[in-house]
Amino acid sequence: MTKEGCEIVFYPVSQPSIGSREAELVADAVNSGWVSSIGKYIQMFESRFASFCGTKYAVAVSNGTTALHLALAASGIKAGDEVIVPDLTFVATANAVTYTGARPVLVDIDPQTLCIDPEAVIRAITPRTRAVIPVHLYGQPAEMDSLMTIGKQWGVRIIEDAAEAHGAEYKGRKVGSIGGCGVFSFYGNKVITTGEGGMITTDDEELYLRMRSLRDHAMSAEKRYWHTEVGFNYRMTNLQAALGVAQMERIHEFLNKRRKIMQWYRDALGSHSCLRLNREAPDTKNIYWMVCLEVTRISEAERSELMSQLRAGDVDSRPYFYPISDLPMYQPAATPIAHDVSRRGINLPSYTDLEETDVRKIAAVVTQALNELNIS
Ligand SMILES: *Cc1c(COP(=O)(O)O)cnc(C)c1O
Repeated sequence: MTKEGCEIVFYPVSQPSIGSREAELVADAVNSGWVSSIGKYIQMFESRFASFCGTKYAVAVSNGTTALHLALAASGIKAGDEVIVPDLTFVATANAVTYTGARPVLVDIDPQTLCIDPEAVIRAITPRTRAVIPVHLYGQPAEMDSLMTIGKQWGVRIIEDAAEAHGAEYKGRKVGSIGGCGVFSFYGNKVITTGEGGMITTDDEELYLRMRSLRDHAMSAEKRYWHTEVGFNYRMTNLQAALGVAQMERIHEFLNKRRKIMQWYRDALGSHSCLRLNREAPDTKNIYWMVCLEVTRISEAERSELMSQLRAGDVDSRPYFYPISDLPMYQPAATPIAHDVSRRGINLPSYTDLEETDVRKIAAVVTQALNELNIS
């Protein structure tokens, strides 16, 4: 894009990296005629994703939200149950619980990880609690050891929402392989994309078979068009899976680049005492799905002003998620940490094609905007 003859670059928060290999495999799927949910790429994508995560099984589905719903439904979560969810997450985590008829119980987060606080989980457990969904928010793994202990002790399932954390590690284990199952999204802004798409990883054979069945209207394997219960059409298409297979070939490249980008941001902005960038908790590997910038003291109005100044400098940004408990369809919750951090945080551009000079330019726009707002 050019403005008055000078080249201007607008930096979006996110954009996918799709190359010729992706085009080649999608074209192959199109030309094969297998455009719906039968075809070689689906199994290929599932088995490559399972081995990447270190699980026995993976089930590909139409998106991350249906992946969450399928995992909950196949786990037997139903009306009258409670599922504990962090208050700071994308709305899909809570909505998927609501679809089952169960109630999402919203609890506070740990300010270091921005993930669910295990102490808050313990306080929220009731005789109706059936599951906890830790979300590995913005790529940082949740405190899984404590959560797995809680799960065992109280007999509740741990379903990892890893939609933002493909490849992140907790004590050397990949997320999605630690809880009873792990849920991923392949939306266009996620670590890898299939356009729309999702996956559930698990080592639990029974859960795996049940998810495969419910994904396809619970049709009998022996008797075609015989259905024993109400299932769903949550299938992924062969076209999406072809894109996914090509993206999996590059996932290590994507993850390495994300670490580099994060380091460039730290080099450029790390010295501002008013700012806090992403943390990486001990014994974990954060994959930095989004660059997270928290301004220590800032009002919500000032944050809006900061974001408009960034936009004027051709830098896109977005606010942290709002606490789910503030949304009109959910009940208010006493979650002071989620509320505080949600008001102060923004996400900055963090996609594979960024180079060091881009990050320097973005950081200069951020510094300038902070100066103009008198924040330091
Ligand atoms: C993206 C996302 C989802 C939902 O994924 P979709 O593919 O967009 O349906 C669920 N949970 C979290 C935390 C997400 O970021």
